[in-house]
Amino acid sequence: MMSGTIVIKNGYVFDPLNEVNGDKMDIFIKDGKVVKELSGSEMKDAKEIDANGKTVMPGGVDSHSHIAGAKVNVGRMMRPEDSYKWARGKTPLTHSGSGYTVPSVYMEGYEYSQMGYTTVFEAAVPPMEARHTHEEMRSIPMLDMGGYLVLGNNWFMMRYLKDGDIDRAAAYVAWMMRTHKTYGIKCVNPAGVENWGWGKNISSLDETNIHFEITPREIIDGLTEINEMLGMPMSMHLHANNLGHPGCFETTKESLKLSRSVKAKQNMGVEWADTKMDLKRDQSVYLTHMQFNAFAGTSWRDFESGVKPLADYINNTDHVVIDSGCVPFGEATCMTGDGPSIHDVAVLTGSKWSNTDVEMECGAGVCPFTYLKSNPVHSTQWAMGLECLLLIDDPWKTIMTTDSPNGGPFTKYPLVMSWLMSEASREQTFSECHKWANDRSTLGGVDREMSMYDIAILTRANTAKTIGMAHRKGSFGAGADGDVTIYDIDPTKVDTRDFDNLIQKFSTAEYTIKDGNVVCHNGEITLVPDRRTYYVDVDVKDADEKDMLKDVQEWFRYYSLGFKHYPTPEKYLVNPTVIKVNAEK
Ligand SMILES: [Zn+2]
Repeated sequence: MMSGTIVIKNGYVFDPLNEVNGDKMDIFIKDGKVVKELSGSEMKDAKEIDANGKTVMPGGVDSHSHIAGAKVNVGRMMRPEDSYKWARGKTPLTHSGSGYTVPSVYMEGYEYSQMGYTTVFEAAVPPMEARHTHEEMRSIPMLDMGGYLVLGNNWFMMRYLKDGDIDRAAAYVAWMMRTHKTYGIKCVNPAGVENWGWGKNISSLDETNIHFEITPREIIDGLTEINEMLGMPMSMHLHANNLGHPGCFETTKESLKLSRSVKAKQNMGVEWADTKMDLKRDQSVYLTHMQFNAFAGTSWRDFESGVKPLADYINNTDHVVIDSGCVPFGEATCMTGDGPSIHDVAVLTGSKWSNTDVEMECGAGVCPFTYLKSNPVHSTQWAMGLECLLLIDDPWKTIMTTDSPNGGPFTKYPLVMSWLMSEASREQTFSECHKWANDRSTLGGVDREMSMYDIAILTRANTAKTIGMAHRKGSFGAGADGDVTIYDIDPTKVDTRDFDNLIQKFSTAEYTIKDGNVVCHNGEITLVPDRRTYYVDVDVKDADEKDMLKDVQEWFRYYSLGFKHYPTPEKYLVNPTVIKVNAEK
C-alpha cells in the first residue's frame, strides 16, 4: 500500500469551500494531497475506507487555542491538581500524558487528533518567549501548527506608531515574523498591557498609556493598516480592551469600526487549492473570544449579555470575523496576554493566580477558574458564547472556539457543537443552570439549529479561510492537504433530541486522516505523522529593514537579552514551512 494514498468511499461529504453539502461522493488522496481521481493502478495500491452512511469533512482546524508557550507552562505548574483528573496511558506508539484544562504537550496532540483535528494555531507568542513556544510546539504530536506574535504592546511598535512612521513599523513587523518564525499579528488589550507593568490598565480607546503616550485606537489603526500593507495571510487578530468588564461590548464595537475602511489584501505566494469558493479572506479584523468582549451592564449586579448589539453590527458589515470563546461549564484555566484582566478575575474569585512575561513587552496572567451552572454570571456567559455563533447570520463570519482553556478545554468542543445543532440540548442546559442565562440573554428566543454544513464551516472551512490557510487546509479542493475526519454520524438521520449521541460521536472521530494516512481510529492513535510549523516570510524593501534594524540593535543595549540571542533559529521548528508574502505586490 502506498503511504499517503487513500480513497474514502461513499461518505456524505461536507466541504463548504467547494459548496458540497452532504453529497454522497468519494474523496481521493494521492501522496498526501487531495486529487480529483486516482488511476486504476493507483487505486489498487491505495488504502480504501468505506464511509457509507457516515459524515466526511476536511480535518479540523483550530485558529485560536492556547497550547504552547510560557504562560501555558505556568498554567501546568500552577495546577498539579489538573494532572490527576485526566490521563492517557502509554502505548507502543504514544507517550503517556496527563492534564485536563492544561494537558501535557503529548496529550494535547492526541486529544485534538481524537476529535478529528489536524491543524491548530497557538494564539499568543510573546517575542521573547518565541523559542520556548516553538520548543513546545515541536513536542506536540499529530498537528500542523503556527503561532501568532503578540505585538499590541511592543515597545518598538508603540514608538514607531506614535511617531507616525508606518513604513518603519511595517518593516519591523516583517522582520519580527521572520525572526520569531511566527504567522500573524496578535493584538491584546492594546496600550493597556503596557500600563499593567505599572499596576494600571486602560479603559477607553482614547486614553494614552504611560511613557509611550499612545492610545488603543492608534495601535489598532496602525496594526490593521500594516497588516494589509504587507498582505499578511491572516487579518489583524484582536483581543479588545476592557475585556471581562461589564459594559465592555461598547469598547469592542468601537474597536471593530476602526478596521472598516481597510481593505483586505493577501500577497501570499502560494498555490491555491482548486475550489469553487474564493479562498481569500474578506475580513480586515478577526476578533477573538467575542463572548469575553461582549459584557453589558454597569456592574455584576446588572450584568447582562451585550452580544446582540455586537452581532447586529457584524451582520451589517463585511470586515469582521469572530471566534466565540464559548463557556461549556466546568473547570477551566484562564490564561491570556491580558494580565490586568486576569488579575481582576483573581480578585473576584480569590483563586490563585500568576503573572508572566510582564517585563517582556507582554504581560500574561494565569488563574484557575470553574464555571458553575448555579452561578448567574457564568450561566449568562454560557448563553453569550452560543449567542455569538447563533445571532450572527452568516456562518462565514464565525468560528467556534472555547478560547481553550479560558472558557473551557478544547475537549469540550463536541458539547458546544451539540448546543449549536440542538435546541433541545440548549433547553436541557437552561433547565439546569441559573435563570440569568435566560433572563439576561436572548438565547432562549433563538430556534436556529445549525446543520452539519454549518458545523463544517465553523470548525474547518472558515477557520482555514480566516487565517489564510484555505490554500491547503479546510477543503477537499484538488491540491489541498489530505486531511480528513470521518464521524460515525449518518447526517440524513440526525435526531437533534438525541444530543448525547452527537456529543459522543464528535468526541471520538471514527477516523482522523492526516496527509492521506490514518492517524487515529476510534480514539486510538495509529500513526504519529510528520507535521509542519508554518510561518510567514514577508519581503519588504531592503532599505526600510536596514534602517529599522539599526534602531532595534541600538535599543537592545538596554535589554538583559543579547541581540544575537533574540531570534528563534529555524532548528527550533519541526518541518519549518515558509509562507512567502510579497509586500511590494
Ligand atoms: Zn485566547
